[in-house]
Amino acid sequence: MQLVWLRNDLRVSDNPALYAACESAQPVEVVFIATPGQWQQHNWGSNKISWVAANLKSLKQQLNQLNIPLHISSCDAFENVPQHLNELMAELGATSLLCNAEPGFNESVRDHRVQEILVNSGYSWQRFAESNLLDYDAILTGKGAPYRVFTPFLRNARRWLSSNNPQPLPAITTLPQVLGQQLDRWHSRPPYQLSWPPGELQAWRTLQAFIDSPIQQYQTARDVPSIAGTSRLSPYMAIGAISPINIYKQLQQLSHGDGETTWLNELIWREFYRYLMHHYPRLSKNLAMYPNKEPCWDNNSHWFSCWAEGKTGFPLVDAGMRELNNTGWMHNRLRMLCASFLVKDLHLDWRLGEAYFMSKLIDGDFASNNGGWQWAAGCGADAAPYFRHFSPTRQAQRFDAKAVYQQRHLPELINGYPPPMVDHKAQCQRFSARVKELSNGV
Ligand code: FAD
Repeated sequence: MQLVWLRNDLRVSDNPALYAACESAQPVEVVFIATPGQWQQHNWGSNKISWVAANLKSLKQQLNQLNIPLHISSCDAFENVPQHLNELMAELGATSLLCNAEPGFNESVRDHRVQEILVNSGYSWQRFAESNLLDYDAILTGKGAPYRVFTPFLRNARRWLSSNNPQPLPAITTLPQVLGQQLDRWHSRPPYQLSWPPGELQAWRTLQAFIDSPIQQYQTARDVPSIAGTSRLSPYMAIGAISPINIYKQLQQLSHGDGETTWLNELIWREFYRYLMHHYPRLSKNLAMYPNKEPCWDNNSHWFSCWAEGKTGFPLVDAGMRELNNTGWMHNRLRMLCASFLVKDLHLDWRLGEAYFMSKLIDGDFASNNGGWQWAAGCGADAAPYFRHFSPTRQAQRFDAKAVYQQRHLPELINGYPPPMVDHKAQCQRFSARVKELSNGV
């Protein structure tokens, strides 16, 4: 029997490991291993954990229809996974393990150890390339080095896409025989109130609803947080409920207006952050791409609480943080503003904000979150320059002039609002001066 180990690829369609297993003449079973201790170390919160649990439930039904059992088991952390899988292989009578690569340093160390232990025990092991839209080793500068700046990466990525035209795998048609018994050792938490219906089918419906029409206005609507101008596909993409190649395939069938082009660029931003992690493993180790652009930090814990609770006295920042706290999701414009505010106005360590976002987001994704935070903090690849600051007042005038979004998340706004906790201009000037000193080696 072939055991397919799913991680952040909770889907049937365009899943290389599952497809290869089903193509073989042998029975197939699938396992998901929950690692609550590791999730805690990676700052996963209950939104993301409940989201994974809800999607596993849906995946189980989907796999049942293909006669493929899904075993959900659990061990504490990545370091326990190799031994755990070795025992599971024996218990289930599996002969080979198949999985798809996923980004991240801890993840590749874990996979390396799993491979070692399984091969030593006489099992076969196959890890398929990560299911990305682009080939990260093929997109390099003229000198053969990985890019650090988005625009030339984007140009090259688009060229690569037109000449390679990546295709999703064909649908799985064979119905492998059932073998083994359900283990269900890990009992998921009680369902949390989430506004996204779980499952691969829902991911496709969300995509369809977006490309049916809103995509045509995406280039402008995406910046207005009070309207549903973006796809809201991120929770599905973060757990791999839909593959980027499948999304690209659907996109190709549309006309190529400004909305479609801008949306593809955003998908390529996602690829860019995964690409950076692939080429610069230090990004997975809590390090900045450019450490000399990180000033020393004030780290005032009271200020951090004000930010996290949405009580800074800047209504747009507070509305963003309340959206995050109350729904587990935040509009991209607000993610940029709130991240910039934490670093450039409050002079707090971007890692605190990165961890806080991760603990709340339903779409928490290490590469995009880390990339977004380093971009906003000014120490990442292609970061917003240190002297460019998001002004909460100006952002509100430009993107929420009638305060529709702010009032939705801050009902108290109607009765007046507490004063700003800091002087935006003075704080940003201090920030810029510090980064300048650092870069000059003062
Ligand atoms: P759409 O605008 O419809 O875009 C389609 C898809 O493209 C998204 O679902 C997402 O997968 C990808 N995408 C869009 N914009 C970006 C971007 N700037 N960077 C990377 N991918 C992008 N995204 C996450 O999925 N998980 C995170 O943990 C995360 N953390 C972030 C933290 C910060 C500080 C910032 C500035 C951005 C972060 N993003 C993250 C990126 C972006 O905010 C979300 O992907 C987007 O808001 C999701 O909404 P949507 O699905 O409607 O996106």
